[in-house]
Amino acid sequence: MALLGSKTQGNDAAADERASRQVKRRTYWLCALLIALGSLTHPLVLGGVRPVFLGVQLTWAAAFVLLGTLVGAGWLRNPVSGILAGVVSLTALSVGIQATGGLSSPLYSSFFTVPLFVAVFIPGQRLPVWFAIVGTLVSVVVITWMSGEGMSALVRQSASLVFVMLVSAHGAETFRRLQGAEQSAHLERVEALRQLADSELRRVRAERQRAEVERLVVVGQLAAGVAHEVNNPLAYVTANLRYLEEEWAEGVPADLEDVRRVLEETQQGVVRIQQIITDLRLFSREESGGQESCDVAESLAEAQRLASVRLRSLARVERSVAGDLAPARLTPRHLVQVLVNLLINAADALESAKTNRAAFVVLRARMEGEHVRVEVEDNGPGIPEAVLPRLFEPFFTTKPPGKGTGLGLALCREYVARAGGTLEAENRAEGGARFILRLPTARPASQPPRREGTAPIDASVEPAAD
Ligand code: ADP
Repeated sequence: MALLGSKTQGNDAAADERASRQVKRRTYWLCALLIALGSLTHPLVLGGVRPVFLGVQLTWAAAFVLLGTLVGAGWLRNPVSGILAGVVSLTALSVGIQATGGLSSPLYSSFFTVPLFVAVFIPGQRLPVWFAIVGTLVSVVVITWMSGEGMSALVRQSASLVFVMLVSAHGAETFRRLQGAEQSAHLERVEALRQLADSELRRVRAERQRAEVERLVVVGQLAAGVAHEVNNPLAYVTANLRYLEEEWAEGVPADLEDVRRVLEETQQGVVRIQQIITDLRLFSREESGGQESCDVAESLAEAQRLASVRLRSLARVERSVAGDLAPARLTPRHLVQVLVNLLINAADALESAKTNRAAFVVLRARMEGEHVRVEVEDNGPGIPEAVLPRLFEPFFTTKPPGKGTGLGLALCREYVARAGGTLEAENRAEGGARFILRLPTARPASQPPRREGTAPIDASVEPAAD
């Protein structure tokens, strides 16, 4: 993977380099064209055709064509190509100006454009600009000296040239700095984006771990109940098997009806143990993802079965589910986890209340417009008014250390909200707490919504065990 990454980066860099060489070649060729066109217009400036000047201009243009070709092919690189371009240009200019009247040549002012040209064409580089400055200065000195002018003319020419050159050098330097600043700002931006992506990744990972831990906490909370729940059927399965062994020891038992009843009871016990273990295994297994809709009635039954290991000894559990329920838009695992959380909270509340009243928990589900409404209520102590506003805050718990994490309801609300639903809590007027889940439906478009209250209710009651 890393090898592939570096290979791709290498390919990108090579493509960039090729593109930049092509741009430079085009620039050299454009200059060559301008120089050649300049030679065509020289009779206008010089008042007639000057063969020497024409020859110099065309040689200059040809040299630029050659330079462009060499740079484009990658055989010549900066700063050598820039310095060569400078040397060729200065030589051509000096010879051309000297041939057309030296200091009094109408082309003399072209000298002042050389550093500007270099600064514009190679702005990112210091060396070619300074080379052009010094080279032009030397050419001016030589031409002034050859034309026999005195020292004052030399100083005059040099002073104005130096001024233009300093402006060019300053412009090139400023451009270079701006380019550097822009590049480092770009790098900083890229780095900031990378860090942002990293922290987002860490956040998502931490969130997944948090959800995982909370699910395992629920499994842990169920564990004590599981031991008790498994022990119960295990006790009568063992007793029944012993009874059957004794019966058969003395030959075929007389009361075969009794034997059939004992066998049936034993089988029920084994099925119950099997069910508890399967449910727990499914619940504690990692989320496999995928299914985004769930059968609410099925999830309610599964959650009731799972929580029964905790609730059976504490309360009577009633379940009433309308027959017209549409599938809800939530993964079955999440809905079961939300419901088990609410049921365990109800069990904790009922256990802490320690009243003589017959404790009960009710699970209800029905359609409410385009939503599936699920209620989990108990007749425990209810939620104190001061606690109500903080109920869904992460890490808020009223349970003793080691018993509550304060994450259950926060996570439940998060799961439900992510699916576009809501989870609210209130106190029942008759005493106890009620949690209301509203889940959007995942009804297929073709299936029309059925009207509320028209479907029969599937009700089940599981009594509290002794
Ligand atoms: P935890 O169960 O770990 O405390 P939760 O987020 O599940 O965390 O619950 C937060 C708090 O909400 C509980 O500590 C409890 O005070 C309150 N609570 C939840 N369900 C009920 C209920 N059915 N009756 C009364 N209080 C409840």
